[in-house]
Amino acid sequence: MRVFADYHTHTTYSHGKGRIEENVQAAIRRGLKSIGITDHGPGHFFIGVKGEEAFRSMQAEIRRLRAKYPQIEILFGVEANIVDVDGTIDVPEAILPELDILLVGYHKLVKPQSLAALKVGAKNFLSGWLGKTTQALRDINTKAICAAVRRYPVMAVTHPGLQIDIDTLALANICAECGTLMEINSSYAEKLDDYVKTALTTGVNFVINSDAHTPERVGDFTAAYRLLQRLNVPAERVVNLERGKRGVSTAGEEFIHD
Ligand SMILES: [Zn+2]
Ligand SMILES: [Zn+2]
Repeated sequence: MRVFADYHTHTTYSHGKGRIEENVQAAIRRGLKSIGITDHGPGHFFIGVKGEEAFRSMQAEIRRLRAKYPQIEILFGVEANIVDVDGTIDVPEAILPELDILLVGYHKLVKPQSLAALKVGAKNFLSGWLGKTTQALRDINTKAICAAVRRYPVMAVTHPGLQIDIDTLALANICAECGTLMEINSSYAEKLDDYVKTALTTGVNFVINSDAHTPERVGDFTAAYRLLQRLNVPAERVVNLERGKRGVSTAGEEFIHD
């Protein structure tokens, strides 16, 4: 088993350490067929892509790199933030249709778009700090992220439940219905057992990503592989796992070989 694509990596356009080209080179070294450049949306207080112009320059750079490195697919994406309780995300409207992949992550410390979002953001911040949550807060969070999945063409929800408390089962059911994937984030894979176990009971599929913030970590899926083994996740539930080549034996049966 081998992961052939890393759809979630950060660069200096948000708070990653490497340039886009360095992430691409690292992905080629790891033998990946595809890499997503998915910096944080502009809604973060400190770290996001700085507006539409910055997205345009990322896009131009990716186009240039596609010509230089034809051996790998380079995808222009974003890890968008949820900035309102109705699931609104922080990607400029003109950029949204230009993206190859849209990831959505529910993060703390994002600029709220309404008074309600400001209150929820403050509660989530406090709840994380105190290590306590309430059912009411969890319900509001779940409603927001589910609304985002219904409203936008979301490829995957990144690290569900990691920063903000949500009802995993409800989100997994909506993702299954909308064809949105849930991420097994290799940077946090030790903390994801409960969420993955719950999501596995639904029809949702998963994607493994590194969430690399340095080129060295692009395509590092070690912790995710361990999680797959620990929880016995069926390989067919993970969309970017290569499971050998399909072939037909001399007896006419279909088989998979490594
Ligand atoms: Zn994230
Ligand atoms: Zn990320």
